[in-house]
Amino acid sequence: MKVLLAEDSKTNQILIRAYIEEEGHDIVIVSDGQQAIEQFQNARPDLVLMDIIMPVKDGIEAAKEIRALCEQDGDWVPIVFLSAMTESKDIVHAIDAGGDDYLTKPVEAVVLNAKLRAMERIADMRQQLKKANRELLRMTVRDGLTGIANRRHFDEVISREVKRAIRSGLPVSLVMCDIDCFKPYNDNYGHQAGDDCLKYVARTMAKVSKRPGDLVARYGGEEFAAVLPETELAGARAIAENVRDAVDKLNLSHDYSLASDHITLSCGVATVSPSKGDDVAVIVKQLIKTADKALYQAKDLGRNQVAVID
Ligand code: GH3
Ligand code: MG
Ligand code: MG
Ligand code: MG
Repeated sequence: MKVLLAEDSKTNQILIRAYIEEEGHDIVIVSDGQQAIEQFQNARPDLVLMDIIMPVKDGIEAAKEIRALCEQDGDWVPIVFLSAMTESKDIVHAIDAGGDDYLTKPVEAVVLNAKLRAMERIADMRQQLKKANRELLRMTVRDGLTGIANRRHFDEVISREVKRAIRSGLPVSLVMCDIDCFKPYNDNYGHQAGDDCLKYVARTMAKVSKRPGDLVARYGGEEFAAVLPETELAGARAIAENVRDAVDKLNLSHDYSLASDHITLSCGVATVSPSKGDDVAVIVKQLIKTADKALYQAKDLGRNQVAVID
């Protein structure tokens, strides 16, 4: 652990440095509250030991400012006060200022180090919790099989983009893709092969749409969707054609397809240019419905093709 000690008494500095280094921790020492805040930002300590009565800025003020800095970053670093003041009101005041613990001076080495271990334990737990939260957040937006955005994320993004389009007056396009004759593929080659195929198609689609604002998502079982903000129908049609072509070129054998001897994709494309005052939910519904209708046309016309509805 890296410990930041804010303490104006030289004697205490020497004593506490010895205690802490003996346990194998690193220590950075400052002599007032203002320096404590500066070093907190520079040295990024894992724990702060804070004296209360110090020149320039006292420990209470410094602790408050350090807490505020932590909150800005969504972070937490334990602050333990070290003070000669032993009254209840002093302890309450220090904890209210953002302290996590309060030790009265003179501090015993064993007690100080036990506190350090306790704080380290809490910091570790917080770290694990943060990691788990990040993973959970990732899981709420990703499809487990293919790793691309899931339906839930698609719903969020399409609403957001339509909302933006209502404000800007710029078009939004949607490409809906569906793997041709995927049921017989699964039935004949097995679900494992089916799953692999879904991964290939997802990866191919993600590669083809290149703009940072584009979103490729798994819409349903073997259906994929691309939300293309600020994209006209012609541009969306071109992307759909590129996706279809790239999947065609994967050349994944499919002897039971009605469309080809390998895996192919049918795509439906639709675009909306909403006006101010339009209802987001209505426009989203209309866009999905139209792209879906185009997709059915592509299927009806023989699959492995792109159909467009203006
Ligand atoms: P079409 O060309 O008209 O789209 O025919 P299709 O066979 O692709 O369409 P249908 O909707 O009848 O079949 C979709 C199949 O997709 C059903 C199921 O076997 C398969 N499927 C859906 N989700 C998954 C999945 O997560 N994994 C695998 N392996 N197969 C899936
Ligand atoms: Mg002091
Ligand atoms: Mg389907
Ligand atoms: Mg299908």
